[in-house]
Amino acid sequence: MTAHDLCAGLLEFLSASPTPFHATQALAKILQNVGFEALNEHDAWQLKPGGRYYVIRSGSSLVAFVYGEKPLQESGLRIIGAHTDSPCLKIKPSPERNCKGYSQLGVEVYGGALLNPWFDRDLSIAGRLSYVDTQGELKSTLIDFVKPVAYVPSLAIHLDREANDKRSVNPQTDMNVILQLGDSQQDFREILKQQLNNPQVDEVLDFNLCCYDTQPPAIVGMQEEFIASARLDNLLSCYLGAVALAEAPVTHSSLLICSDHEEVGSRSDVGAQGPLLSEVMDRLVDTNEARQRMLRRSLMISADNAHGIHPNYPNRHDDQHSPLINRGPVIKFDANQGYATSSSTAAQVRWLAKRGDVEIPLQTYVTRADMRCGSTIGPLTAAAIGITTVDIGLATFAMHSIRELGGVSDLKHMRALLGRFLSCDVLPPSDTA
Ligand SMILES: [Zn+2]
Repeated sequence: MTAHDLCAGLLEFLSASPTPFHATQALAKILQNVGFEALNEHDAWQLKPGGRYYVIRSGSSLVAFVYGEKPLQESGLRIIGAHTDSPCLKIKPSPERNCKGYSQLGVEVYGGALLNPWFDRDLSIAGRLSYVDTQGELKSTLIDFVKPVAYVPSLAIHLDREANDKRSVNPQTDMNVILQLGDSQQDFREILKQQLNNPQVDEVLDFNLCCYDTQPPAIVGMQEEFIASARLDNLLSCYLGAVALAEAPVTHSSLLICSDHEEVGSRSDVGAQGPLLSEVMDRLVDTNEARQRMLRRSLMISADNAHGIHPNYPNRHDDQHSPLINRGPVIKFDANQGYATSSSTAAQVRWLAKRGDVEIPLQTYVTRADMRCGSTIGPLTAAAIGITTVDIGLATFAMHSIRELGGVSDLKHMRALLGRFLSCDVLPPSDTA
């Protein structure tokens, strides 16, 4: 895949993925297109050595794997982990509000969203809903309004003279989105039913919907070196993981897990603290001992974006650990295990980066000692499964904003690193001493 194709593919994937449900579907499509077969958790799996498969749980988490020709307990599993969810505004269960002649929807904030950038955007609505069809069956479907149908206007500066100095946002009172002008309090479920435009739909029962920015992803910068888009955290890593897995060799086994709910702590049936990965592993090997032997030969790369040093706020970083956009994947360290990286797993990544014809540039990140570190699915998965893990990611700006900024040439660096990882025949042991 050329650098140009990689970037074009990412932009297409980001546009197709306004919600974790859509992202999961788009990932499945990428894998299906290269021959991965869908598995269902209800069925018994007949895995063939050299086969390539994926399974989706609850519509928003995906596990895909190459079931290698070599026994897993001898060759281990190369795992890439990422997450499908991003901070956003979620529509409340009974969202209808009417104020001063405007029909609005009440929203909840999902995850640690940076709220100010959500004002004055052309928002649309997407997600999943459940309905009863005309036969009385319970069904679910994805929905995307596509066009901008909602808006949260800022308050004019004349009505809040202190806005530039001390504007804070109250998510309960300030973020309700305006849908339309009109006194009638139209049932939102009726609006959804009209949008579905499917004669089989009798009644919409429930929904999991969020607002998203309709501005498409773009390449920006004088040298066209940046990617501006919503949800780079962490669809960027999901996409690069899927592309790497699609081209992984079938001699040994590799796995990609993209799970929902990372932004809210991963505690769910589909989240990284849930049993999804462990349950898939149980189906890959016959015995508990084989599973333990496999795990001890395995490595997980937890891929999630890193904070690039911002030229307007350079003192928010430690001088020696200030990653730049487009200068290669960042190995993320935290002495307090906010990231799962250890000196030996970091060394494994450095070893991989040096292993091919061209050395892949790497950077390191550690949060300032007087600031609090974020976290990822890395330590959670390491703790739940007992798998040796390293946290890496690409440098971005504006993490958790409605629009984030990443780097074009970083795509090929990360793609190359993940490719080397998945094609590595024998992983070096992480703990020889
Ligand atoms: Zn993330």
